[in-house]
Amino acid sequence: MPTASSGWTKIPIAGQPSPQVAILPPMGFRYTDYDVIVVGGGHAGIEAALAAARMGQKTMLITQTLDSIGRLSCNPSIGGISKGNIVREIDALGGEMGLLADATMIQYRLLNRSRGPAVQAPRVQADKFRYSLLAKQALELEPNLHVYQDTVIDLIADSRVRGVRTSRGRDIGARAVVLTTGTFMEGKIFIGEYEAPHGRLGEIAAQGLGSALRRMGFAVGRLKTGTPPRILSSTVDYSLLERQDGDPEPMPFSFSADQVDRPMVPCWLTYTSADTHRIIQENIHRSPLYSGKIQGVGPRYCPSIEDKVVRFAERERHQLFLEPEGLETEELYINGLSSSLPEEVQDSFMRTIPGLADAVVTRPSYAVEYDYMDPMQLSPDLETRRLPGLFTAGQINGTSGYEEAGGQGIIAGINAALSSRADAAGESERQHFVLSRSEAYIGVMIDDLVTLGTKEPYRMFTARAEYRLKLRHDTADERLTAKAWEIGLRRPEALDRLRKKLELRDGLTAQWDARRITTAEGSATPSLAKHIGKTCAEALRDPLVPVEDILSLEASFKSFPPAVRTAAELEIRYEHYIDAQDRRIDKLKKMDDTKIPSDFDYSGVSGLSKESMNKLKDVRPATLGQASRISGIKASDVMLLMVHLR
Ligand SMILES: Cc1cc2nc3c(=O)[nH]c(=O)nc-3n(C[C@H](O)[C@H](O)[C@H](O)COP(=O)(O)OP(=O)(O)OC[C@H]3O[C@@H](n4cnc5c(N)ncnc54)[C@H](O)[C@@H]3O)c2cc1C
Repeated sequence: MPTASSGWTKIPIAGQPSPQVAILPPMGFRYTDYDVIVVGGGHAGIEAALAAARMGQKTMLITQTLDSIGRLSCNPSIGGISKGNIVREIDALGGEMGLLADATMIQYRLLNRSRGPAVQAPRVQADKFRYSLLAKQALELEPNLHVYQDTVIDLIADSRVRGVRTSRGRDIGARAVVLTTGTFMEGKIFIGEYEAPHGRLGEIAAQGLGSALRRMGFAVGRLKTGTPPRILSSTVDYSLLERQDGDPEPMPFSFSADQVDRPMVPCWLTYTSADTHRIIQENIHRSPLYSGKIQGVGPRYCPSIEDKVVRFAERERHQLFLEPEGLETEELYINGLSSSLPEEVQDSFMRTIPGLADAVVTRPSYAVEYDYMDPMQLSPDLETRRLPGLFTAGQINGTSGYEEAGGQGIIAGINAALSSRADAAGESERQHFVLSRSEAYIGVMIDDLVTLGTKEPYRMFTARAEYRLKLRHDTADERLTAKAWEIGLRRPEALDRLRKKLELRDGLTAQWDARRITTAEGSATPSLAKHIGKTCAEALRDPLVPVEDILSLEASFKSFPPAVRTAAELEIRYEHYIDAQDRRIDKLKKMDDTKIPSDFDYSGVSGLSKESMNKLKDVRPATLGQASRISGIKASDVMLLMVHLR
């Protein structure tokens, strides 16, 4: 039965078990103020809003503070192993993160340069203030996009989401809503005994929405993360630190650029000492992590310094990197020194670190605990199964990291646009934009989240991807740019560049297939001695032949752009492995192409164990492939399902 409350009607959502209640719109409410509303101006929100607007949808991005759009809450860096691949995937799909990183980088490194191409990835230090300004400007300049400062406290919904209610009492209609609340939903920060409702230090928490989602029956939990202190550069004794420069030739993240022209600065390396560890041990009871004040689970792979000192007690020291926060600030970020100990304890252990004895702290380290939604409530296109038209992306889905957030943001934005379009046309069926595990790291991440869920902040690693060689950062454009075009994120210049790159790559490969190594060349270059008479391509399959030796054979080889040379080299060197991966991907594709209807009746499949049936009902996999990846689902269960579906 509907119940009246302050002019609003609350009813159970149709088809859902109680106690879910939706806020129904009052008389005169305009369902269609916007096609898509994105809540949150962080890394997920930026990509979601731009994608929806670029697909022609009238979009609003509502965020608590316009001046903190695109803020790098923690480390002033973008990319890294597997995360760098995600940035390039976002760029290939038509997103913004790669462009912002290129325009703000102050140090560039290709990580794992000495290891295989499957695990190499770019990482940059970014000027965090410039990053934020440019992100805000990109949103402001985007046609179809209205950026607005307010806090969303509730959703308006009937059988699907219809809009949002804000803290100033405004009700704004939309056909689809994307929530990207980051660490702000009921966020609480901790520094020793101090605790207060903030999403980041100095920024108020977003109160209300978490309770609204719980009331609507969503599974909402608590996670935590932390950030290290910032110090003044002028108070550091650099003579005691090791200098770390970036690569001399920075390369752009974005496929739309050939080079980057930016001022570069060094980072610095120092270590904790025995005294640092002693002070932490003596005060460990004052850490809210250990006193039991923080209930949320933290990121295993990014532990606080007190965690490291307790868990790895045998280690004499831990590495700390000093990273500049920008070109026009004195602040340095101390990578590796995240803590939630009281400020005076942080201050005293700082004095025990070589080079930091006189360091002046500008912002203390702190931990933040926040609401997240169990991602197993989502379909693979990031739409909540409980409330059609509602999407979630980023830290709210249990991930950690700007790149993970941005990757989900662009997928949620695209699907919100598709959902809004279908709603406007009155269509009950719509297109779903989903990337598979063999197409993108973004696909791996979302499949992991919606199939396995997460109990701790999820972070991307190369080890999570089965087809790493295919998912190399340099192939993101080949894998994704045409797909983005097909779905409506149209950038003719990106497609032209890709076509040109592939033509040039094929041209160079053809030249290497035809050109034979002469006796004179073999005698002059030791690595080519045993390849006389063979083609350049055959020689390149020998890991002991550096590509530079092949390039130096003909001036024309060197005239190809660096990205093309690398693409041709890797295609040739890894051809056999890539073929083998392609065969495995074909098998996976068959499973992923077998769709399972969303209302499929698992109780009708005889032979399924009760446990498997419950898991399948919980996850509601969209395909047989996804079903096979649910933890605890056996190959025999998948066979039963396959037979039944056929
Ligand atoms: C203290 C701290 C430490 C971190 N440590 C790490 C780390 O070590 N490694 C790592 O990879 N990542 C770390 N992160 C996480 C990283 O900052 C996030 O993963 C990333 O920023 C998530 O992006 P997002 O878009 O999901 O959310 P955020 O970047 O958090 O952005 C969310 C935005 O939404 C707005 N918002 C929230 N709720 C509402 C609402 N109801 N109405 C309107 N606006 C709203 C907020 O104001 C904010 O602008 C840390 C974050 C914090 C705060």
